[in-house]
Amino acid sequence: MNHRIEVTHADITTLKTDAIVNAANNSLLGGGGVDGAIHRKAGPQLLDECRTLNGCETGGAKITQGYNLPARFVIHTVGPVWRGGNNNEDDLLASCYRNSLRLAGENGCHTIAFPGISTGVYRFPKERAAGIAIQQVKDFMEHNTTPEKVIFVCFDEESHNIYQKLLNR
Ligand code: ADP
Repeated sequence: MNHRIEVTHADITTLKTDAIVNAANNSLLGGGGVDGAIHRKAGPQLLDECRTLNGCETGGAKITQGYNLPARFVIHTVGPVWRGGNNNEDDLLASCYRNSLRLAGENGCHTIAFPGISTGVYRFPKERAAGIAIQQVKDFMEHNTTPEKVIFVCFDEESHNIYQKLLNR
C-alpha cells in the first residue's frame, strides 16, 4: 500500500498530477491560503466554472478543469472548521478525502495530490488531520485501483515531519 502513497514538501500549484485537491469554502468562489494560490495560478476561467457549481456542502467535493495549472483537474472539497472536536469534525474531514478520491476515480485520475485540508485557517489539529487523511486513503486504496498514486503535499516542515512519522509506523 505505502508504495502508492508519497509525501512531498511543495506548493501544490506546481504539481503535474491528474488532479490536485483544493481546500475550498462552501461558496467555491475562492478564498485565501491554498484556495487563493490555486485560483491565481489557474486563471479566471476557474472562477467562471466554479460559479456554475452552486457551492458545495462541508465534507462534499466537486470537480473542475485545471485551466492554467499543470494539473488536469481541480477537485474542490470543503473541510470542517475546527470547533473543538465534538462537532463531527473528524467524520466531515474523512468524508472530504473519500469524496475527493471517488471523484478522482470516476474521472480516470491516476494521480492525485492533497493539501492538508482544514489545517490552515480552519485550525484542525495537524497530526489528527494527517491521521484521518492517511487512514481514508489507505481504506480507499484497499478497495480501488484508481487513483493509483496519492501525494500528500506539505507546505511546511512540521506537516512534512508528521506525515513521515505516521506513514513509517
Ligand atoms: P483551510 O481553510 O481548509 O484550513 P488553508 O488554505 O488555510 O485551508 O490551509 C490548508 C493547508 O494548505 C494548510 O496546511 C496550509 O499550510 C496549506 N497550504 C497553503 N498554501 C498551499 C500551497 N500553495 N500548496 C500546498 N499547501 C498549501
